[in-house]
Amino acid sequence: MISAWFGLVIGSFLNVVIWRVPRKESVVAPPSHCPECGTPIAPRDNVPVVSWLLLRGRCRHCGTHISARYPLVELSCGVLFAALGARFAHSWALPAYLVLGAALLAISLIDLEHYLIPNRVIYPVGFMAVPLLAIGAAGDGHWWWFARALIGAAGAFATLFVIHIASPRGMGFGDVRLSFVLGLYLGYLGAADVPFGIFLGFLYGAVIGLVLMAFGRRGRRQHIPFGPFLAAGTLTIVLFGGPIIDWYRGLGKA
Ligand SMILES: [Zn+2]
Repeated sequence: MISAWFGLVIGSFLNVVIWRVPRKESVVAPPSHCPECGTPIAPRDNVPVVSWLLLRGRCRHCGTHISARYPLVELSCGVLFAALGARFAHSWALPAYLVLGAALLAISLIDLEHYLIPNRVIYPVGFMAVPLLAIGAAGDGHWWWFARALIGAAGAFATLFVIHIASPRGMGFGDVRLSFVLGLYLGYLGAADVPFGIFLGFLYGAVIGLVLMAFGRRGRRQHIPFGPFLAAGTLTIVLFGGPIIDWYRGLGKA
């Protein structure tokens, strides 16, 4: 419950990141303002989701329409944080995974809109993830998990780097950098989680790519941002990896 509320507040900050980082603006100054009339948003109008609903999606000052994307990002972050809070309720690694959840939400939306994964997001996340996972491993009493996280990061990075070399247009270097962070978090959970998470990302990308082509929305040669699929694959394994991997292992025995 607490992590859900925390998620709403962080989601509000993610909106700022998603809008400003690709436009090379500062995320701290100036404070949030209406994109149309530039009036600063008063604290009472900056309550996640609630303010947007109360103002019926309009700026209090000029009445211009404010996109439903803002409350939806806040809501998604709240739901994601609640799920991660439940999954890591008994783990010291919870803060590390909340950072991952917030980062993947921001990265996915920026990649969908601008076809890039900004270094200004991926580097800070990487620099936060390593010490936070080390603290998690120390608290949980399993230093091997942290070592495995580093091995997972190296493995995922190497795999996507090879694909990037083979097909630089298909997979950008932003995806390769992202895979380092994903490998870190997946490796902390288990050795099998790394290939499973990355593979699921490819699977999601392939399925959605085929669906878009079938409906004529994208040509074969048109670029589809890959970051959101990698993010979704990793989040699936982070939240539900135990049952999925057990199910897969059961297939071999049946
Ligand atoms: Zn306005």
